[in-house]
Amino acid sequence: MVQPCNWHCCATGQAPSRGTSVALQRLSSPWIDKALPAITAHAKEAFDVDVKRTPDDAISLRGSNVPAMIDTLNEFFTTPGNIDYGEMISAVGRGIVSLICERCDFIKDEKKPALINFQATPVVPFGIPEYEISFAAQNSDQKDGSTEHVLIYPDLNTLSEEHITLLEGEVPEHLKGRPYLHHLVRCIIVVSHEVLHFVQHCIALRDASPLSWSAEHDASWPSLSLLCAADRAGQSSCLTPGLVEACLVYLSGICRSRIQEWTPEVTVAYESWQLHMGLTAQGDGDLPATHGPGGIDPEDAAFNETFRAWKESLAIEGIVESDAELEVQLNLLFNWGGRREGGEVNALPHPLRFADEAEGFDVPESVRPCNQARALVP
Ligand SMILES: [Zn+2]
Repeated sequence: MVQPCNWHCCATGQAPSRGTSVALQRLSSPWIDKALPAITAHAKEAFDVDVKRTPDDAISLRGSNVPAMIDTLNEFFTTPGNIDYGEMISAVGRGIVSLICERCDFIKDEKKPALINFQATPVVPFGIPEYEISFAAQNSDQKDGSTEHVLIYPDLNTLSEEHITLLEGEVPEHLKGRPYLHHLVRCIIVVSHEVLHFVQHCIALRDASPLSWSAEHDASWPSLSLLCAADRAGQSSCLTPGLVEACLVYLSGICRSRIQEWTPEVTVAYESWQLHMGLTAQGDGDLPATHGPGGIDPEDAAFNETFRAWKESLAIEGIVESDAELEVQLNLLFNWGGRREGGEVNALPHPLRFADEAEGFDVPESVRPCNQARALVP
């Protein structure tokens, strides 16, 4: 089921036009090289179409079947029921929680079964469509001391045209036309963010800032590093070869386009959030506060959309490629400096300062936010 989307995610940096040869996108992403072998093999086998990377870094499709292939893929994506989003989210999520439970000792053993058995449930519309296209993590503590973790997801098989139009609105102009593909990518890349909200609950790490600046930062920053690690470890059967990389190519293209549209105020606010790891200065007086564009914390749905773009950009810029670097990311956010004991995150030491000064731990350059900032700027 996933195979057709695999190369399609990657190739549709721009919507392919009909023709026997189309240069799709200039790409300098390291992920394209990892995704291409699976993509080219599938395009050849299923459609007898040649996919090649050209010397000027574009992707070209060649073959008389290109128009038929595009029609087939469009039909696949837009026919309701072809993709079981819930099944995909469960499979990706379970792969990620398994990896966390195996490798992270900051989660108590008694908390792990609930984490592994999290539920994925489709959004039940409640009258505010702008919020009904969001994913959410819900943690409910039960009377017997256990916790129920529920990942709520938008299901395009059941949501209305209005939702699909809203989703399309989040995609930059030149990438429009494939809301189902866009949503499928979200179902793969957003899951680890929500799982990290489960982890925050497991260790009772709280963020009292009004817009959850820190909680949202911490669930975003290592999220795609974690997805890549689950993929490397073969933790999820639905992550077929090249799929994660294809999604990263697609998402980084979207994030790059969005960043170009940001005003200087939005860019400054995003970088402040990134560099200060979402902390709001309550626990560390000489840090500038993390806040919304222009120093104002926005409260409307437009901010929800902006914040969603920030979270995805941060996750892309924060990707580290080795298990050792990922371990440092997770330790900074959920373990060191008292974080593993839980509590109000803004009252705890700044994670990087704690690692540098208190622990004398040599945080790799690749993990430091100052070296990741602007990685997406064209
Ligand atoms: Zn979140």
